[in-house]
Amino acid sequence: MKAAEVLDKLKVRFPNEPEYHQAVAEVLATIEDVYNEHPEFDKVNLIERLCIPDRIYSFRVTWMDDNGNYHTNMGYRIQHNNAIGPYKGGIRFHASVNQSILKFLAFEQTFKNSLTTLPMGGGKGGSDFSPRGKSNAEIMRFCQAFVEELQRHIGPNTDVPAGDIGVGGREVGYMFGKYKKMTREHTGTYTGKGLEFGGSLVRPEATGFGNVYFLLEMLKTRGIDIKGKTVCVSGSGNVAQYTVKKLIELGAKVVTMSDSNGYIYDPDGIDADKLAYIMELKNLYRGRIKEYAEEYGVKYVEGARPWGEKCDIALPSATQNELNGDDARKLLANGCIAVSEGANMPSTPEAIEQFLEAKILYAPGKAANAGGVSVSGLEMAQNASMISWTAEEVDAKLHQIMENIHAQCVKYGTLEDGTVNYVKGANIAGFMKVAKAMMAQGVV
Ligand code: NDP
Repeated sequence: MKAAEVLDKLKVRFPNEPEYHQAVAEVLATIEDVYNEHPEFDKVNLIERLCIPDRIYSFRVTWMDDNGNYHTNMGYRIQHNNAIGPYKGGIRFHASVNQSILKFLAFEQTFKNSLTTLPMGGGKGGSDFSPRGKSNAEIMRFCQAFVEELQRHIGPNTDVPAGDIGVGGREVGYMFGKYKKMTREHTGTYTGKGLEFGGSLVRPEATGFGNVYFLLEMLKTRGIDIKGKTVCVSGSGNVAQYTVKKLIELGAKVVTMSDSNGYIYDPDGIDADKLAYIMELKNLYRGRIKEYAEEYGVKYVEGARPWGEKCDIALPSATQNELNGDDARKLLANGCIAVSEGANMPSTPEAIEQFLEAKILYAPGKAANAGGVSVSGLEMAQNASMISWTAEEVDAKLHQIMENIHAQCVKYGTLEDGTVNYVKGANIAGFMKVAKAMMAQGVV
């Protein structure tokens, strides 16, 4: 297999899908050598079978707003690969959603889920519906209309959706309610459910906490303590909030958070009270991060991202391609020693190149943010066995999984000079498990 040739072919067959090409290019470049050590893989064209989703559903979603007007959106579910378990991955509601973005997310999810050590395949879904400014009733009607179509493609052993951008506990609850009504079954088909109806403790916290646990493992390899370190976080949604919560607990100083309009810079650090304000602002009032700056009298920068601020550690936790080559150069010039991705593919290829060249600690999302789907897997396990674990039990398992993912990255990504290329490590470890499972199951 020649990575460049495979990619060129995919680009011709699936044009106008830049995010999908970007995600595939990164993986192919790092697994090429290992793949070629296994001629049996190429004999069955394993690489194309792994890059192209098993199937894609797309459908029209029509819903009514509070004024009685009807709107149409597109809905999608990408079932990428189920070699190691049922398709599993979140649902994203955002105006930017299209097939390319969901294909990149489903592709990445396959490797990420493999790394968790739990039996989950990869999938992703969503809609170009924007929840911003919609009433609760509108959100509910949209979720119900979306599930009316989606329900025929999912199930506890088939495909298990969860949340992502624009989809939190509220949306999962509405989707699950409609799903349950239509199928007349109360199963573990969704994860991220409310605690009262099958949700797992620590699921809301899992992605953010997991990213910090992964970061701690990376820092340990260089004997660095997180206490007192200055951290730039982007985003102010689910992942960012719980990332900041854990960082505060560990004595780090978080100076930035953001949303799609701009970022705030708080030189004194966001403490527990200020974070509580942000969580109420974002989760209850659904306000803008700018209001934090007004409340606490700090700097707000409209239309910009926080990477120009001086920090030791950067944790991008908003969206894809939110940190480019220039941003990476600024971070490095300011002495940044670690970047760990809470978001999926937040760093552009040029940014990643800078980080790898500078040999700072850099963790790609598919390793660092795998805590979310890991606890989703634990939610499935609890649902299937009709039990609930305590928060301490789930947190301990999450910790263990993140340590394990780190160990796999070290195993497959350690370079001759002793440093670890976490991109290479995560991609090879994730790939090998899926590849072996596919080989064992024959060409299907
Ligand atoms: P949320 O919807 O809770 O929060 C998303 C945050 O990112 C918001 O602050 C949002 O701002 C901001 N944002 C979204 N789109 C853009 C954009 N185009 N430009 C700038 N800012 C943007 O989502 P999550 O916190 O759940 O997800 C954040 C990232 O983490 C995503 O990449 C997601 O795929 C990834 N992830 C999430 C997991 C989970 O368990 N939730 C698991 C693993 C990865 P605004 O409010 O203005 O839209």
